[in-house]
Amino acid sequence: MTLLKPDSSIEFLKGVGPQKAELLRKELGVKTIEDLLLYFPFRYIDKTRLNLVSELKESDWAYLQLKIGQINERGPARRKILVVQGYDSSGSIEMVWFRAHSWVTEKLEPGKEYFFFGKIQNQGYGLTLIHPEIDQLDPSAQTLRFLPVYSSSEKLSAKGLNSRGIARLTETLIQHINIRDIKENLPDYILQKFQLMSRSESLKNIHYPHTTLQMNMAQKRLRFEELFQLQLRMQYNKSKRKHLQNGFRWNLVGDVLNTFYTEALPFKLTDAQKRVVKEIHADLRSGKQMNRLLQGDVGSGKTIVALMVMLIATGNGFQSCLMAPTEILAQQHYLGLKKLLEHLPVKIKILTGSTRTADRKVLLHELKNGELNILVGTHALIEDNVVFNNLGLVVIDEQHRFGVEQRSKLWAKSKILMPHVLIMSATPIPRTLAMTQYGDLDISIIDELPPGRKEILTRHIKDIHRPELHKFMKEQIALGRQIYIVYPLIEENESLDIENLQLGYEKLLQFFPVPTYQISVVHGKLKAKDKDMEMNRFASGRADIMVATTVIEVGVNVPNATVMVIENAERFGLSQLHQLRGRVGRGSDQSYCILMTADQIGKDSYARMKILCSTNDGFKIAEEDLKLRGPGDLSGTKQSGLVELQISDIVRDHEILVSASKLAATIIERDPLLELEVNRILRDFVSHQGRRIEFSSIS
Ligand code: ADP
Ligand code: MG
Repeated sequence: MTLLKPDSSIEFLKGVGPQKAELLRKELGVKTIEDLLLYFPFRYIDKTRLNLVSELKESDWAYLQLKIGQINERGPARRKILVVQGYDSSGSIEMVWFRAHSWVTEKLEPGKEYFFFGKIQNQGYGLTLIHPEIDQLDPSAQTLRFLPVYSSSEKLSAKGLNSRGIARLTETLIQHINIRDIKENLPDYILQKFQLMSRSESLKNIHYPHTTLQMNMAQKRLRFEELFQLQLRMQYNKSKRKHLQNGFRWNLVGDVLNTFYTEALPFKLTDAQKRVVKEIHADLRSGKQMNRLLQGDVGSGKTIVALMVMLIATGNGFQSCLMAPTEILAQQHYLGLKKLLEHLPVKIKILTGSTRTADRKVLLHELKNGELNILVGTHALIEDNVVFNNLGLVVIDEQHRFGVEQRSKLWAKSKILMPHVLIMSATPIPRTLAMTQYGDLDISIIDELPPGRKEILTRHIKDIHRPELHKFMKEQIALGRQIYIVYPLIEENESLDIENLQLGYEKLLQFFPVPTYQISVVHGKLKAKDKDMEMNRFASGRADIMVATTVIEVGVNVPNATVMVIENAERFGLSQLHQLRGRVGRGSDQSYCILMTADQIGKDSYARMKILCSTNDGFKIAEEDLKLRGPGDLSGTKQSGLVELQISDIVRDHEILVSASKLAATIIERDPLLELEVNRILRDFVSHQGRRIEFSSIS
C-alpha cells in the first residue's frame, strides 16, 4: 500500500472499502484519513503491566496471564453458561461467558496460557471476570502496551467496527501515513513555552502510546490545542467584531424610555438591573454591533431590562423583536410587556404558529411599513415572509433552546447592518463553562434578586412519606395558594412520559377530588389551544393544581403559585431542578419546593437533593452540578447544542483552560486581528472551522 495523505478519502485505508466508508461518514463524521486520526480513544486498556490474581479487587480492570484449568458448562440446557478456571502463581479466578461461548471452548486449551483482559466483578460468589477479552500468547508480538478504546455505535459494531475494529483501522492508518504530512498548527514559541509535544507525535501517540508518559504528553498537547483553538477563535471573533463590525449607533436614550422610566415603571430597579442597563447602553452607543449575554438567575428581572433596551431601539427609530422558545412563554412576555406599555406610544404585537391568517396579514404589513415597534414571538419570527422595516435589535430569551441556524436567520433580517443582539439566559453557568461557551460574547450578570423575595424553602420527601405531602398541599390550597406538580421527561418515548403523568394525575384525583379541587394538566402532546386553556385555568387562579411535564420549565410566571412539587426528582439534573424551583417564589408569600423521590436513591441523587435543600444560589448550584457530573460527562452541554469538546473536559482540564484562555487574550491584545507574521499560523488555525458546532461564526 502506498502512503496515505491526510486528506485522502477513508475508503483508501486497508480494511475500509466503500460500505464501511459510508458508515464511518454517517455514524462518526469520519471522511478522510485525517478525520480518523482525529477520532480519539476515550480510554485505554493498560496492557503495559500484568496483574496478579491475588491483588485483584472488585471493579478493577485487570490484565492477567493465566493458565487454563477446568472448563465447565453450567445451568439449564438453553441457558448454559461457560465457567473457565484460570490461575497464575498467586491464585485462581473464574471467568464466565453467558452466551456465544462455543468459540471460547474452541480457543482455550486446558493447561495452556493466555492473556485475559476484563473488569473484575463480584456477583456474590467471589471475584470473577465476565466475558474477558482473550489474547493468544505470542512471544514474538509486542503484547504489553496500551490499547485504545473508541466509542462506536450499534450500526458500526454490526459491520465489525466496534472499538476493536476501529482500533485495527487506526493501527493500519498509523503504519501507512507519513508522519511529516501532519502539519504543526501551533507556533514554536507556544510549543516551547508550554512544553508541548509536536502535533504529529501527539496524533500518533494518542492512539498507540507505549508509555504512560507518552500518553500523558499526547493528551496534554491535544487538550491544550483544543481549548486554545476554541479560546482563540472566540476572542478573535469578538475582537474582529469590535474592530470591524459596525453597528447602529444609538446615542439617545430616547423619549419613550424616559417616559416609561418616570411614569410606567412599576417598581424601583435593583442596582444590578441599573448596572446592566448601563452596560448595554454603552454597547449601543459604541457604533459597534452588540453581542451580549444577559445572565441572571430565575426571577432576577431580566424581562424589564430587555424591555428598556427595546425602548431605546424604539426611541432611536428602530424596530426590535423578542424571541421566546415556546408559545406559552411568548404569550406571557407579550401580555406582560403590553401591560407595561399601556400608556406609551409603542406598538407591540405577537406572532406565533397559531396566529390567525387574517391577523398575521395585518401584522406583517405593519411590520414591513414600520408601524410596529416591537414584535414578540416564537420560531415563527424567523420565517422568510416575516420582513421588518428596520430591525435594530434582537432579544432572545432562554437562548440555549435555540439552534445556531435559527438565530443566524434572525440576524439576517436586518438589511443594512447586523442588528444588536441580546441573549438572555436564566441558566447560571460557572465561569469555566462560560469561558468555553460564551467566550465570544460580552457578558452582563444580574446578581441580585428584587427586594422582598423570601428564600424558597426546599424539602426532600421520600415516597413512603407521601401522605405528608398531601397534607401540606391541602393546607396551602386552604390558604388560597396554587401548586405545580412536575413530572420529568424520562423515557425516549414521549407517550410513556405522558402515561406516567396521567397515572400520577389519576392517583392525585383520589386525594384531591373534583369539584372541591380543580386540577389542570399540561403536556407536550396537547394541542396548542388546549394547552393554552389549561394554562389559563391555572394562571387565572381557577385551578389549584397544575400537573405538568417540564414544559413549564421555561418561564411561566404565576405569582400566586407557591408550591413546586417535583416528582421523581432524582431523575432531574441539579440545574434543571433549580430552574423548576424558580417558578415559585415570585410573589410575596413564602414559597416551597418539594423534591419527591423514590425511597431508595443513589448516592449522587442524594447529594443533589442535599445541595438543593441547602441553597437557592443558582451559581453555586451550577458549580456543584459541574463537579458532580464530573470529568468526561458534559452531556448537559452537548444536549443544549453548545460547543462540543472532543478530548478536553473543562472540569478536569481547568488549568489548561485557564492558561489557554490567558494566552489567547495576550495574543489578541497585541495583535487584535492576527495580522503579525509570528501569528500567521494562528490565522489558519482560527479560520479552520473543524467539525465543531460553531457558536461564534454566526454572531
Ligand atoms: P426572569 O429574570 O426570570 O426573567 P422576570 O423578568 O420574569 O425574571 O421577573 C420576575 C418578577 O420580578 C416579575 O414579576 C417582575 O415584574 C418582577 N421584578 C423584576 N424586577 C423587579 C424589581 N426591581 N423590583 C420588584 N420586582 C421586580
Ligand atoms: Mg424570564
